[in-house]
Amino acid sequence: MNYRTDILDLRTALQVLRETQGQLIETRVPIDPMAELAGVYRYVGAGGTVKRPTKTNGPAMLFHSVKGFPDASAVIGVVGSRKRVGLLLGCEPEKLGQLLCECARTPIPPVVCEEPAPCQEVVHFATEEGFDLEKLVPAPTNTPVDAGPYITLGMCYASHPDTGASDVTIHRLCIQGKDELSIFFTPGARHIGAMADRAEELGRPLPISISIGVDPAIEITSCFEPPTTPLGFDELSIAGALRKQPVKLCRCLTVEENAIANAEYVIEGEVIPGKRIREDQRSNTGNAMPEFPGYTGPASSECRLIRVKAVTHRRNPVMQTCIGPGMEHVNMAGICTEASIFGMVEKAMPGRLANVYAHPSGGGKYMVILQIAKLLPSDEGRQRQAALLAFSAFPELKHVILVDEDVDIFDTDDVLWALNTRYQGDKDTIFIPGVRCHPLDPSARPDFSPTIRDTGISCKTIYDCTVPYELKDRFRRAEFMEVDPGKWIRKES
Ligand code: MN
Repeated sequence: MNYRTDILDLRTALQVLRETQGQLIETRVPIDPMAELAGVYRYVGAGGTVKRPTKTNGPAMLFHSVKGFPDASAVIGVVGSRKRVGLLLGCEPEKLGQLLCECARTPIPPVVCEEPAPCQEVVHFATEEGFDLEKLVPAPTNTPVDAGPYITLGMCYASHPDTGASDVTIHRLCIQGKDELSIFFTPGARHIGAMADRAEELGRPLPISISIGVDPAIEITSCFEPPTTPLGFDELSIAGALRKQPVKLCRCLTVEENAIANAEYVIEGEVIPGKRIREDQRSNTGNAMPEFPGYTGPASSECRLIRVKAVTHRRNPVMQTCIGPGMEHVNMAGICTEASIFGMVEKAMPGRLANVYAHPSGGGKYMVILQIAKLLPSDEGRQRQAALLAFSAFPELKHVILVDEDVDIFDTDDVLWALNTRYQGDKDTIFIPGVRCHPLDPSARPDFSPTIRDTGISCKTIYDCTVPYELKDRFRRAEFMEVDPGKWIRKES
């Protein structure tokens, strides 16, 4: 594996994109963070589960003139294409899952630095006259009906009240007042939500830092889930492994927590115990924001409240955001999903999982394609065992498509070719009904199917599109003569 150790913050990442053909559009045309910014990017590069027309694998976009924020700029889509993630992490796009799997096995914990942190060049305390989050942080409202301005790529960092073990996770954060943010915790998820619950039991606030605009290695690895990263596993240590050096933290100024020293912005605050707020209390639309499955997420009536104590930032900070659904989410969630599955299947049946792809249509969470190598007659049936392991490695997974080694898992046409020529619906579809998957799947509701007893329960399904081992000979693809096509193609000079 190659490791790229020269990118340690967002600015360096943007410089790399700037120097690479077709990876970054910069504009000085003023943009309104209220719905306009996301509206523009939908056409330029969102892709994934975003409403058509959109563009899959378009460039990132940097807006130098953000209305209402003369000193700031805003960037969207930094990790919005797999090729770009490969470029920023120094890895072939097809091997990213394996790279992250390797890094999860060899973590390098973060370190707290005492030197002045770039993210604290400019400091605003909430006690100051006129402190107003909405005027300090250019958080976009992605559509006109959203609950409000969202911090979509805030690296939330907190520590367990009992053990002190830290966790980084991205949560949906909506600005609710001059010093108030709502934070949405997926019910039952084992991250900062579990820490906030424990702090609440003890009757204490939970100190939290929210770092925005960071090294893309941190953005991606913060999306790891249990069981790969159980509660208490600091995902920043996987980012450290990716860069072959510890992530640098700094001490927060107003709360007992650390933040990412190289971030563009840091919001410091506390999750308040015993308080729940309605996410759309300001807009009353019933909506949160567009979520990764491609639908607008319902506003939660049970959000926790963060009381903000300070906002710190670099000089001329770069606000980083995403559109919600789209390839950016697919890459962040999906590459970690691939790494988790790769780790578990490889351990159980070495050499049989050739590769895995978290398909964009599932937002990086709902669907994976497993490329299986049947090496021996006794490998027949092992492909289905690999699918069961994948469901265990990533509990939010709903659909697994199994294909052979000669299928390009990154080419949907090729995967559907396998479905059409190597699959019979009645014998190759395996249903596992009544299993908990993910609450944002709008079909995972009791009114959709009698087998669903609660929101978030689904029928996990395996589509086995592999050729039975003993029939492999009959399923050779037509072979063409091997030639070098270059001779017939005019070289562009
Ligand atoms: Mn986490």
